[in-house]
Amino acid sequence: MEEIKVFAPATVANLSCGFDVLGCCLDNVGDDMLVKKNDLGRVQITKITGQDLPMETDKNVAGVAVQALLEAADSKQGFDIEIDKKIKAGSGIGSSAASSAGAVYAVNKLLGEPFSQKELIAFAMEGERLASGNAHADNVAPALLGGFSLVKSYEPLEVLKLPAPSDLKMVILHPHIEIKTRDSRGIIRQSVSLKKAINQWGNLAALVSALYTDDYQLLGRSLKDEIVEPIRSILIPHFDSLKGIALKSGALGFGISGSGPSVFAMCRGEETAKKVYAEIEKFYADKTIEFELHLSSINPQGIKEYK
Ligand code: ADP
Repeated sequence: MEEIKVFAPATVANLSCGFDVLGCCLDNVGDDMLVKKNDLGRVQITKITGQDLPMETDKNVAGVAVQALLEAADSKQGFDIEIDKKIKAGSGIGSSAASSAGAVYAVNKLLGEPFSQKELIAFAMEGERLASGNAHADNVAPALLGGFSLVKSYEPLEVLKLPAPSDLKMVILHPHIEIKTRDSRGIIRQSVSLKKAINQWGNLAALVSALYTDDYQLLGRSLKDEIVEPIRSILIPHFDSLKGIALKSGALGFGISGSGPSVFAMCRGEETAKKVYAEIEKFYADKTIEFELHLSSINPQGIKEYK
């Protein structure tokens, strides 16, 4: 195998009660990547379309993630990486994670799969370290594994794949304002009261139970965040109104996607998701901010290969 083309999906991290530990994979939002072996003995980013991003291997998350993999594999093989960016950088739906995860997935395949999907997470996290200064796994894990991922611990890294109820839909609003992950991490308080922590881990445990039992109502009641959302939502224009509209239109829950500015509404069924989509679209139409809306199923597979 000399080359491979993959779909690298967008992901929604945190999901209200799972700050830095929970994420899920989207089905129809993502980048395309083409990775080819070269004879140069080095990794190069040969083409980026759709976005203005660094071409230098050391400054592009795809390059950094692949270099981490090659070092661990003790391989001198070179690769050319082309990225067709459809997820906007800084959108909060895992733009950097898609490139990191897509690149390590592709290179692993071309090397004859020396690593498992779970082992690839640590390499993709090096891309996240470059993008945000923090090697978090809650976007790269669901991008690589699909469905929902739970980061049980970072040291040692232990990631679990959770089941996704088949009727779940995500409506994502991306208001075109810039919030850097670095900045939105900076405003979060570093300590949490015991009372809030108890509520948060109660919700997270209930959410995991809901995923295993297909309990959509419990899932909705668990999508709460008393720790990060009250602070971060200040950065997102009309957050409270959007949340009210989504819940009134039938969404199970509503929250910030990753570090924002994108927000998500989790819904049961296509019909409800379309209603939520339409109501959010109507509400945002007369605001001065440009925006993008997505409606997606949960992608159970993660990265997909184009045959
Ligand atoms: P997101 O949460 O959507 O991934 P971040 O703000 O965390 O957004 O990451 C985007 C940052 O990563 C930008 O500064 C961007 O220049 C940098 N970056 C480097 N390479 C890539 C890439 N291949 N795809 C996306 N972002 C990249």
